[in-house]
Amino acid sequence: MSIEIRNLNYTYGAGTCFEAHALQNISFTIPDGQFMGIIGHTGSGKSTLIQHLNGLIRPSSGDILYNGVSIYSENFSMRELRQNVGLVFQYPEHQLFEESVLKDVCFGPKNQGLTAEECEERAREALILSGVPQELYDSSPFELSGGQKRRVAIAGVIAMHPKVLVLDEPTAGLDPSGRDEILGQIRELHRKTEMAVVLVSHSMEDVAEYVERIVVLNDGAVYCDGTPREVFRQYKALEELGLAAPQVTYIMHALKDCGLPVDPDITTMEEATDEICRVMGVEDAS
Ligand code: ADP
Ligand code: MG
Repeated sequence: MSIEIRNLNYTYGAGTCFEAHALQNISFTIPDGQFMGIIGHTGSGKSTLIQHLNGLIRPSSGDILYNGVSIYSENFSMRELRQNVGLVFQYPEHQLFEESVLKDVCFGPKNQGLTAEECEERAREALILSGVPQELYDSSPFELSGGQKRRVAIAGVIAMHPKVLVLDEPTAGLDPSGRDEILGQIRELHRKTEMAVVLVSHSMEDVAEYVERIVVLNDGAVYCDGTPREVFRQYKALEELGLAAPQVTYIMHALKDCGLPVDPDITTMEEATDEICRVMGVEDAS
């Protein structure tokens, strides 16, 4: 599986006084199995971009290739594409509606035409992968906490066995512990399945710790694309775009400025701990 985005442009309200060029000449590829982040401040075009990935929005110009085939070509099956590219919208808990958690997660596989047993099997597997405790399966989704609702919504998408899971701001509105839990769960999901995961966020802090690669969007265009290390090396330029680097980047640069010979281009707490221990000549006790 790969998704190639080629010279994508999208304009809202073209030809009206509300015209907004939301995406400008976007090109990049999402390879099979990658865990990547799409970062940009509010209004940079993230949500518009990802709605193209499963054909919900048609570009003003440009193309999207799924496994090398244009998704706009004549015989291309959008239905199949939507099964393979699972989109979890922002605040997905607003779309829960069934009377029980288990039924809600069965909804997607049911639409795929699977039997009742197959649906339940898929739903149970997805709920486990999403970290929803079994005692909640018969509860109403509306009785759950914010974090649990979100896990159920994610389970509803992964029950369809997509090859790519796209999550639009999955931590929006969660407190810091809810945020860490959901991101940790998404990392586990990626480890345990073959899925490519696209994590969309306006927070560097969210993605730095988790993803293999980051595409930074600014004003509807790709500003940079690389590993977290490559991207955060430009943290001063990113600040000018209103995107702060993760706290750990600032700490490492401050230590270097104080004369500690650390490698400042570090993006996760784990690497920072190792690096500080290394230059201090002590064993990491954790
Ligand atoms: P993000 O998800 O990064 O916050 P969006 O994709 O929602 O960004 O928005 C990108 C740009 O498109 C913004 O300037 C926004 O105001 C504009 N936009 C988004 N949705 C619409 C819409 N339905 N109609 C008109 N303009 C829109
Ligand atoms: Mg958005």
